[in-house]
Amino acid sequence: MNLSQVRKMMLFTAEKMVESEPTLTSLDQIVGDGDHGIGMKRGFAAIIVLLQDEKFQPTDIDDFFIQIGTKLMTSMGGASGAIFGTLFRAGGKSITGITEFDSSALSTLLNEGWQAVYQRGNAKPGDKTMVDALAASATTASLLTTLKLNDALPKIAQSAMEGAEKTKQMIAVFGRAKNLGERTIGHMDPGSVSMAYILKFMNEYIQNQ
Ligand code: ADP
Ligand code: MG
Repeated sequence: MNLSQVRKMMLFTAEKMVESEPTLTSLDQIVGDGDHGIGMKRGFAAIIVLLQDEKFQPTDIDDFFIQIGTKLMTSMGGASGAIFGTLFRAGGKSITGITEFDSSALSTLLNEGWQAVYQRGNAKPGDKTMVDALAASATTASLLTTLKLNDALPKIAQSAMEGAEKTKQMIAVFGRAKNLGERTIGHMDPGSVSMAYILKFMNEYIQNQ
């Protein structure tokens, strides 16, 4: 994919994330403080405005993702603004110089993004955060770098969803959810579902091309 295709993919993803607000809100009402859906909606609504603005002309694919991350960070607030902002900013920085967004670039973005999210928030897989979906997707992506993006992304997105599903069995140790302790067992972490949704919607866009 070139920059213009990546831009269209992320616009579609942002629209779908805004539509997902009720689902994310109900999850955070059980596992957190109820604001995750609103935060994601605010962030991705800001992305829609950005991407529809013709004056927004990123120099390259890496710059595009960095600016997406900056926008999420400045518009969302809360733990997840910093976390998802970091993912895209660090992920963007890691793919400097590419002109084609392929499965190898996606793998680099997810893996370097994961490391940066860990540096920022210290959450490891198993701590019931978005890292559970991110780590699962990054690990799968590393194994599929020789596939075409439209063959790799369904599997990467599926791994993220499986990672999110696994958070049901975990006890939260981060964010507001940690105060709820064992009451969070049986319910998915909202941030992990957001992470899985982002990849799911990117995949939906690509499969329809
Ligand atoms: P807040 O916790 O400020 O209310 P949100 O409700 O928007 O923020 O986001 C909560 C989500 O953020 C959680 O579901 C979790 O996935 C993610 N999260 C929280 N703390 C961390 C962390 N240290 N590392 C990674 N993700 C985190
Ligand atoms: Mg919250």
